[in-house]
Amino acid sequence: MRLKKVTVDSEKCQGHNRCYAMAPGMFKVDEYGYATPRGDGVLASEADIELAQRAVENCPERAIEIIEGEG
Ligand code: SF4
Repeated sequence: MRLKKVTVDSEKCQGHNRCYAMAPGMFKVDEYGYATPRGDGVLASEADIELAQRAVENCPERAIEIIEGEG
């Protein structure tokens, strides 16, 4: 089965929390505000995929991606 996952490129992330503010259940941030996906980043529902797409569109650094992989 093809799985969709959300990823954050730590080299691009500038740590201003926007994704976390929008989707705290999907992202976590460290003490400097740099984001990583929660858990394994798997998008388990259409609602999660839509939320992740909004996060992609709202990341000013284009650090967030949705990837497809084998699950
Ligand atoms: S919105 Fe983008 S740059 Fe900002 S914390 Fe989230 S991943 Fe990092």
